[in-house]
Amino acid sequence: MMPSQFHKDITYLKGVGPKRAECYNKLGIMTVYDLLNHFPRAYIDFSNPLSISQAANTGNNEVIKGKVVKKLPVARIKKGLTIYKAVFTDDVSDLTIVIYNSEYAFEQIETYKEYILYGKITGNLVRFEITNPLILPVDTPDKIQPVYALTEGLNQNMLRKTMHTALEAFDGEIYEPMPKSIMQKYSLCSYNYALENIHFPKDIHSCELAKRRLVFDELLTLQLGMYMLKSRSKSRTGCMMNNCPIDEFYKSLPFELTNGQQEAINDCIKDMCKSSPMNRLVQGDVGSGKTAVAAGAAFFAYKNGFQTALMAPTEILATQHYNTLSEFLTPLNVKVALLTGSLTPKQKSTLKQQIANGEYQVVVGTHALFQQSTAFLKLGLVITDEQHRFGVEQRAALALKGQNPHKLIMSATPIPRTLALMIYGDLDISVLKELPKGRQPVETYAVTGKLRERAFGFVKERLDEGRQAYIVCPMIDESEMDLQDAKSYAKKLQAGEFKNYRVGLLHGKLGSDEKEQIMNDFKEHKLDLLVATTVVEVGVDVPNAAVMMIENADRFGLSQLHQLRGRVGRGEHKSYCILITDNVSEESRKRLKILSKEHDGFKISEEDLKMRGPGDFFGSRQHGLPAMKIADMSSDFEILKLVQQAAEDITANDPMLNNPENRGLKQLALLLFKNKNLD
Ligand code: ADP
Ligand code: MG
Repeated sequence: MMPSQFHKDITYLKGVGPKRAECYNKLGIMTVYDLLNHFPRAYIDFSNPLSISQAANTGNNEVIKGKVVKKLPVARIKKGLTIYKAVFTDDVSDLTIVIYNSEYAFEQIETYKEYILYGKITGNLVRFEITNPLILPVDTPDKIQPVYALTEGLNQNMLRKTMHTALEAFDGEIYEPMPKSIMQKYSLCSYNYALENIHFPKDIHSCELAKRRLVFDELLTLQLGMYMLKSRSKSRTGCMMNNCPIDEFYKSLPFELTNGQQEAINDCIKDMCKSSPMNRLVQGDVGSGKTAVAAGAAFFAYKNGFQTALMAPTEILATQHYNTLSEFLTPLNVKVALLTGSLTPKQKSTLKQQIANGEYQVVVGTHALFQQSTAFLKLGLVITDEQHRFGVEQRAALALKGQNPHKLIMSATPIPRTLALMIYGDLDISVLKELPKGRQPVETYAVTGKLRERAFGFVKERLDEGRQAYIVCPMIDESEMDLQDAKSYAKKLQAGEFKNYRVGLLHGKLGSDEKEQIMNDFKEHKLDLLVATTVVEVGVDVPNAAVMMIENADRFGLSQLHQLRGRVGRGEHKSYCILITDNVSEESRKRLKILSKEHDGFKISEEDLKMRGPGDFFGSRQHGLPAMKIADMSSDFEILKLVQQAAEDITANDPMLNNPENRGLKQLALLLFKNKNLD
């Protein structure tokens, strides 16, 4: 177990008074444990100093060595501004050390003594200067010094001193939270060694060992926390259902379910008959038919006398789901309601009344609306679409509504298993592997910009046949300059190539109403061509769209390209995806070629992972996991794989981490998730 000193207030440490403590608090450091977990953001290696002229050339903070030859008279410029200066030499060049206001720092340095300085050199050969450098005696034992994130009122030296004090307080006796067997199996150094060497490494090697151990701990804690969320065995649902056949549902469907769909529905039914709530993710490529799975689960709830809520991120998606669910369920006498922002206040209140009375059994709406109070008579199942935008905590918060209803989450983002275990570790997963029969794959070509004119010609031919098309334009981010590019690109197309067609522009800076309006216009074929940045709404179904053209395709991850491609090929029309890139490198060509051949989102995401690492999955995308202090899932991916093995080893026999040897890890997991809903 953690020693009690760990949780002591930071003022427990010598030299930290209430005032200093306030500064630490600003950094989120409340306890001794928090302090020890305030890891350096960098290190300065004092063992290899540069010469003054070399250091001046880099323009960065550098380490130099030399001696102080003269301390200059103190200049008191005005009240509150005193400047101290000293001349420093490395026997080839001189520079002036400039120190603002710190008499203490100035007094520490002595003439004719050797020092190591760290800082940025400014000025020129005639007059080099270094302002407020870090100054260390040349015989300092710690040749690698940590650099910490600071806040006003703290400097590096203070933090280092306090950190030393904290480590000394434990006198090398810091508890070991990791079971022995795991330490041995994964060659981990001790926790004690790790903490000492992450802050004050003996050398680079010990620093790396320490880091590996701490990254391992952090990822393992996270993974175990996710698993604990999943097996929250104490939570009970008030919505336990009884198994009953839903043949009438299967019979009324206009198609045969795929095996994956059938299995996913069976998984849901099994889950909903348990005394603990379902927490299931249905993962399937675009077009794999997740809505039919949702409908099956909702129908099962209906047969058991429970209501279902389905939440979509946007109004247009909500409407789409409403239409599909109505088509499947209305013939079976299930009453489906659509709750959106465009209802009048009166309509809204009437509808809410009817929902509260139980007149509607399935309610589709936007997240925003469900966040306002919506009373159900007997809510048994909550379905959310495109959950990757929501965090673990938000997921957990939903659970509090109603009688702890069952939860089903639909995601169209295929994620390789390793990553899914982490991001969705708190959920059970059903995967829809195959697409419904008879789908034509989207024919995909990668071409260079030289063929752009021809590609435009091809797009026009499709438009003339009555189809619609998307062009994802060459925007890198949503900055002002790029936005101008997107706008002028759309304008140019409208004025030139596509002057006889209706061109719209969709980008991230538009308000959500505007976005919905444009998407709706496109859906209703009031636009022929939609120029869009990557915001093309996830999941919006425009069956008449048959071409997706993507500029600068090599800038995107394969998974993202696959997602974009999924916007077309959703109807009976033969569809095409044209990837334009002027990057003719072997690698780029190889990557894009994968898309021409491969149409399975899971396989594509595996390839992506192999070629680009997991950055695309963890980078810009919100995954909603707690913030990491030292681990970086992109660069620490190899450790993540080991961690998952370790997590399986540990939870196989002790899912709630109650065995004595696992208690230390449990405590860490509780701390990481701030005790939220874990226990
Ligand atoms: P997504 O998984 O992308 O949400 P949808 O649920 O929107 O996919 O389904 C895409 C289309 O496929 C819909 O028009 C739906 O009616 C149809 N569909 C779903 N399942 C099947 C199936 N088993 N056979 C044929 N068509 C299906
Ligand atoms: Mg969908």
